[in-house]
Amino acid sequence: MNDILHIIDKQRAFFKSQKTKDLEYRLSLLKTLKVEIFANEQVVLDALNKDFKKSGFEGYLSEFGLVITELDLAIKNLKKWVKPKRIKASLLTFPSKDYIYQEPYGSILIMAPWNYPFLLAMEPLIMAIAAGNTVVLKPSELTTNTSNVISAIIKKVFPKEVAMPVEGGVEISTQLLAQKWDYIFFTGSTKVGKIVAEAAAKHLTPVTLELGGKSPCIIDDSIDLKLVARRLVWGKLLNGGQTCIAPDYIIVKSTVKDKLIEVLKAEIIKRYGHNPKESPDFPRIINERNTQRLAELLKNTNVVFGGEIDKNDCYIAPTIVDEPDLNSKLMQDEIFGPILPILTYDNEDNIAHIIWNLDKPLSLYVFSTQTAFIEQTIKKYSFGGGVINDLLIHFGNYRLPFGGVGASGMGNYHGKYGFTTFSNQKPIMKRGNWYDPSFRYPPYKGKMSLLKTIFKYFG
Ligand code: NAD
Repeated sequence: MNDILHIIDKQRAFFKSQKTKDLEYRLSLLKTLKVEIFANEQVVLDALNKDFKKSGFEGYLSEFGLVITELDLAIKNLKKWVKPKRIKASLLTFPSKDYIYQEPYGSILIMAPWNYPFLLAMEPLIMAIAAGNTVVLKPSELTTNTSNVISAIIKKVFPKEVAMPVEGGVEISTQLLAQKWDYIFFTGSTKVGKIVAEAAAKHLTPVTLELGGKSPCIIDDSIDLKLVARRLVWGKLLNGGQTCIAPDYIIVKSTVKDKLIEVLKAEIIKRYGHNPKESPDFPRIINERNTQRLAELLKNTNVVFGGEIDKNDCYIAPTIVDEPDLNSKLMQDEIFGPILPILTYDNEDNIAHIIWNLDKPLSLYVFSTQTAFIEQTIKKYSFGGGVINDLLIHFGNYRLPFGGVGASGMGNYHGKYGFTTFSNQKPIMKRGNWYDPSFRYPPYKGKMSLLKTIFKYFG
């Protein structure tokens, strides 16, 4: 730990030298990072495959490609982003020119999870560096192969005083969280998010918490169920269901439930075969502990498809559970695996009863062609973000902010939002000196009515 403390001190001193505020310096770091990441494309994809049998296609689609997009975006736009933004002045403060300066916070701690281990470590790193900060990054200890690659890339590209990987588990995380940071960016579970928030509060350190939860997917009877099944099976089974914004459970109109289950079964077989264990495209559960956790969730439930478990291979088959009890662990905990519970509704109160029984989710999905039903649903419930008639893909548009609300997180990032997250928005008013009416200065006697008029018309 002494080494880490030494590095943190060095990073603080380096930040004070103002070097990280230099635009060209930041750009040169990002460009070097891009070269190094490109050089390691296959190494990254292989590491993801070694960690949990993630296919090269999924690795590129859901991690590598998105990192490159973010990096390109930062390199292309940084010059524009760092400029102080001119803001319309107020007549109350006339004469002035008003601006928002983008100020790097300083020392940033980034903590990443294992489920998209490359993306969720690299993406915040890119924007933290673009914004002119120094970074200590702790990748997940559960995906050792990918974490080793991340560490090697960071060590090769960045001087230690700018960015440094620190590998380790809970003990190291706890030690890191005990330090005073200028900003903490955490992606992981709601449970650990609370630990992070508590540690940050001791130093009044601002945080972004990218957490999880139970994201519902509502399906009415107006939509083509084959299309729903295609998108749903993809969205649920990508990464073996270990996606923070995966549809956790379904709420389907009761009249079409049986049909939905039939088309879902057919779609799973079409994509992954009769034995998904043999499919090169179906990832494994991250470890034995989580496989066991998922097996426990299935106990005493009505499995209507799948259900096969091989703990030695960390394999859980794509599984459909019909009408689980709302009080069961399956319907209380975030599932984070290839298990899809199906609940039904007859009226909108049934939907509210299910969703309001749980914390605010990270995502919500609605499949319907009924505009009124869609609008009412997305306005009625509070959630981090969502998609109408598809799943997950809101994550892919960097022009949309990505983050949770309530128990699913606070703050957001992606694209320019990431740059803003890692920048203190510093308002600066540049006052003109050529006009200085005596009105605001004492004595105030006789000025009240004019003051009220000014607020009424110019405030
Ligand atoms: P996790 O909370 O167990 O771990 C995340 C990080 O916290 C890791 O680096 C880990 O080392 C550290 N950590 C674990 N226990 C700790 C403790 N007691 N004290 C301090 N640090 C600790 O999460 P995970 O299992 O790696 O990831 C899965 C969770 O992350 C799911 O809940 C998922 O929904 C969520 N997630 C959210 C997003 C998002 O963008 N909102 C993305 C991916 C995953």
